[in-house]
Amino acid sequence: MDMTPQALLARRDQAMGAGTPLFYNEPLHLVRGEGVWLHDADGRRYLDLYNNIPVVGHANPRVVAALAGQAARHWTHSRYLDARILDYAQRLVDLHDPSIGSVVFTCTGTEANEVAMQMARIVTGGRGFVCTTAAYHGHSALVGSLTRAPRRGRPDVHAIAYPQRYRPLADGLDAAGLVRAHLDEVRAAIADFDAAGVPLAGMLVCPIFANEGLPEPLPGFLPQAARLVREAGGLLIVDEVQSGFCRTGRWWAYQGEGVVPDIVTTGKPMGNGMPMGACAARPDLVARFRAAGRYFNTFAGSPVHAAAGLAVLDEIEDRGLAAKAAAHGAWLLEALREIAINVPAIGDVRGRGLFIAIEWVHDRTTRAPDREGAVAMVNRLRDAGALIGHAGEHGNVLKIRPPLVFEREHAEYFVALFKQALERTATA
Ligand code: PMP
Repeated sequence: MDMTPQALLARRDQAMGAGTPLFYNEPLHLVRGEGVWLHDADGRRYLDLYNNIPVVGHANPRVVAALAGQAARHWTHSRYLDARILDYAQRLVDLHDPSIGSVVFTCTGTEANEVAMQMARIVTGGRGFVCTTAAYHGHSALVGSLTRAPRRGRPDVHAIAYPQRYRPLADGLDAAGLVRAHLDEVRAAIADFDAAGVPLAGMLVCPIFANEGLPEPLPGFLPQAARLVREAGGLLIVDEVQSGFCRTGRWWAYQGEGVVPDIVTTGKPMGNGMPMGACAARPDLVARFRAAGRYFNTFAGSPVHAAAGLAVLDEIEDRGLAAKAAAHGAWLLEALREIAINVPAIGDVRGRGLFIAIEWVHDRTTRAPDREGAVAMVNRLRDAGALIGHAGEHGNVLKIRPPLVFEREHAEYFVALFKQALERTATA
C-alpha cells in the first residue's frame, strides 16, 4: 500500500472528510513514541513540546502495564463494586483542597464541564454562566456555548474580557487598577443577567486562561471574582483540563491563585492517553447532582481507567514531576526571554511551570498579533525537530507544553533548535 504522505492525505480526506484538523504544512506520520520523543515513518525523531496528554511520557511502561494488566482481567464499567475505582477517586480528591471530596468520572474534558455546568444549575437553581470572550471548554452544545462567546447575545452566557496585561483592557492602569477593571466586567455581566431575569449559575474559567493565550497573571482577580459570583448566588467552576496535573508546577493551578473553587474539572493528562475526565466538587454538590438524575457514562471510571489513572498518579509522585515542571519550566522561560531580547517578532514570553507562551507580533510597539509569523515558526521548528503549537485569542501565541518527563537537557536542546529556526527566519 502507498504510504507516502500524499497517499495518506488523500485516503484521510476520503475516509474522514476533507477538513479534518491536521498539524503542520508537512503533516507528521508518527509511528512510535518514548518519553518526550516521537518518531516518524522515516526514522526521524522529534522532541515533543506540545502534547500534555502523555503527561508521564509517551508509551510510559508503568501505565501500559497497568492498563493492559487490568484489561486482561476484566474491563467492565462503573456499576459494580470495585475497590480500585474507589482508591483512584480517593487519591484524586485527596490531591485537592479538603472541601472537595467527591468526583463524577467522565471520558473527556467536555463531558466534565458538561457535568459541572449541569451540577451548578441544579444546585443554584440558576441558568446563566460567565466565561471569557476567548475561551474554549469543549464541543458539546451546552459547553460549546462558552466557546468564543460574544460579550452579550446569548441568553444564558455572558462573556468578559480575560484578565491580562499585554493588551490591557484600558491604558494607564497599574496591576491593581486592571484587576478592578476586570472585576467590573464580572459585575456588569452579573447585572445584565439580573436585568434580564436570568438567575446566575456560575462562572466557568480556566485558572490560567490557557486557550486565551496564557496571559501574565493578575493576582487577586480570581478570588475577588469568585466572591462576586458567590454573592450573586453562583458557583466558581475552574477548568483544569489544561492547567491541572502539575502543569504549572503545582497539582492545580487554582492553588497558585489563592482561590478554592466549588467545582474543578480535569481531563487530558489523567490517563496518559486513556480517555478520562473528572468533575470533582464538594460532596454536597455531587450528592445533589446524583439525586437529580441518574448520570451514567458507559466508558467512564472503569477498572481499566482506574488502573491507568493510578499509574499516572504514581509516576507523577514517584518521579517528582511537579517540582521538575517548576524548575525546568523556569529555566526554559529565562532562556527564551534572553533570546527574545534580540528578536523583534517576539513581543512577550511568559509561562507557568512547563507551559510557556511566546507572543509573535508584527511590531513590539503596536503589539499587533502576527498569526502567520507564528505559524511559520511552528513549521520551521517542526522541520528542525521540535514539535510545538500555536494558540491564543489571535492564534499568534507559540504554545510550548511538553510532557512533564521533560529534563533540563531537553530544554537545552530545544533552545538550540529554537535559535536555529530563528536563523532560518532571518534568512528566509
Ligand atoms: N477545557 C479546556 C481548557 C481545553 O483546552 C479542552 C480541550 N482543548 C477542553 C476543556 C475539552 O476537552 P476534550 O477535548 O477532552 O473534550
